[in-house]
Amino acid sequence: MEELYADLVVIGSGPAGQKCAIQAAKLGKSVVIIERYPNPGGACLHSGTIPSKSLREAILNLSDFYTKSFYGQKEIPKQSISINDLNFCLNLVLEEQIKQLHRQFDKNKIVLVQGIAHFENHHQIAVLDDNNHLTHLVTGERIVIATGSKPRNPKNVPFDKEMVLDSTRLLSIDHVPKNMLVLGGGIIGSEYASFFAALGTEVTVIDKKEQMLPYLDKEIGMHLQTALTKIGLKFVGNKDFDEIIRHKNEVEVKFNDGSSLKAEMLLYALGRVANVDHLRIENAGISVDSKGYIPVNALFQTIVPNIYAVGDVIGGPALASTSMEQGRLAARHAFGAETHHFPTFYPIGIYTIPEISSCGYTEEQLKNLGFRYEVGRAYYYEIAKNTIAGNDPGMFKILFHADTLEILGIHIIGREATEVIHIGQVAMTFNAKIDYFIDQVFNYPTYAEGYRIAALNGFNKLKHKR
Ligand SMILES: Cc1cc2nc3c(=O)[nH]c(=O)nc-3n(C[C@H](O)[C@H](O)[C@H](O)COP(=O)(O)OP(=O)(O)OC[C@H]3O[C@@H](n4cnc5c(N)ncnc54)[C@H](O)[C@@H]3O)c2cc1C
Repeated sequence: MEELYADLVVIGSGPAGQKCAIQAAKLGKSVVIIERYPNPGGACLHSGTIPSKSLREAILNLSDFYTKSFYGQKEIPKQSISINDLNFCLNLVLEEQIKQLHRQFDKNKIVLVQGIAHFENHHQIAVLDDNNHLTHLVTGERIVIATGSKPRNPKNVPFDKEMVLDSTRLLSIDHVPKNMLVLGGGIIGSEYASFFAALGTEVTVIDKKEQMLPYLDKEIGMHLQTALTKIGLKFVGNKDFDEIIRHKNEVEVKFNDGSSLKAEMLLYALGRVANVDHLRIENAGISVDSKGYIPVNALFQTIVPNIYAVGDVIGGPALASTSMEQGRLAARHAFGAETHHFPTFYPIGIYTIPEISSCGYTEEQLKNLGFRYEVGRAYYYEIAKNTIAGNDPGMFKILFHADTLEILGIHIIGREATEVIHIGQVAMTFNAKIDYFIDQVFNYPTYAEGYRIAALNGFNKLKHKR
């Protein structure tokens, strides 16, 4: 058993833990990260963001998704693209990302300890190996819990590694299914459903709600559903399941209206839960809230002042992007460096095919809040770059105040949406008005030109009204 001391002990090496550790090291602090698994990176690297986005990229490339409009539909891609083809790309990405993480930890003299961590008290963490043997006792002046989340696995769902899958199990399937059911039209369910539909699998998404991703701006949500239908995806809303039955070669979902659906595979994508089971947080005087998350204040401090919690373990927005910033801010506050509150406006990226990104208010929110607003739209068919690149569907939607012209919300669906959103995000952060996009020169041809077209569209409507 080894005893260690550090200014900061971080539990979990996902994006929240990594950025927290690196920030503390940059402030001159000694840092130990404890990670349960042999390779650092968290769910983000091993079962979440990076695998799903690598698969997406591989599917788009291998199926020539974007060149179909020029060269015609490639025949039955699902038979020519194997899981091995997809995993080949994914494994290369994983190897590179793991190396990069080790380089960053080494460069910043961050000590990585492998094992399962639990609290002995509010300053001391015990680390156990897989056989429950104590390997390390780590004492820290400050402790950050960054243990993330895992898929919710209710007992009445017969999960396995072949037919009844969650988003982690899905990564070990050995073939591309002919048909698939996806329970849950949230981000994870919608993303994977669109990837498999693009591969040629017959996919049906089922949700209790009326539409997929219901918190999206409604108009963007409608565009998404139309685009997904075009690639063959079916959506069944207002349906709740009773039972999931695993048959020999297929899985059956029985619904509470008496109907049922069968398919070769089922992706169960109904939520995630915080990873707190091994932590024994009660030994440090902390407890979880009614949803199982660790409560924190605006500075990511738990009820115990030297202990912080960041990332998925504290609940929404539960993104790698937001987790990183939470980790960085927690380290800055913990060691007295100048800091700020978590930004009000940040982008949300949804990597369905087509992808979506938004920042700020939706039109429905503005209506409810009683804002006087106007809308500027640019459709992708109006953007020259899109015609050159394959004529994909999409739109820019900019919401702005009808009197002050301040930008209130930006919603983009279509190719490169998750990249170009940052132009709007920066403009909003600096309280830009809609005419900012009109008075600037944009590179041509680019997707970013959509801002200018949408701004002109919205501004001209206003001029006519006035
Ligand atoms: C399929 C999928 C797709 C996603 N796509 C995106 C996306 O495109 N963009 C985006 O921004 N976000 C995305 N996310 C969300 C993103 O992956 C998470 O928000 C992010 O990983 C959370 O980071 P974290 O550091 O809080 O936790 P995690 O990444 O979950 O890391 C936590 C780490 O803590 C370790 N740990 C847990 N308990 C212990 C313990 N007791 N002792 C030691 N170690 C422990 C775990 O092993 C893990 O390595 C996606 C998630 C999923 C599932």
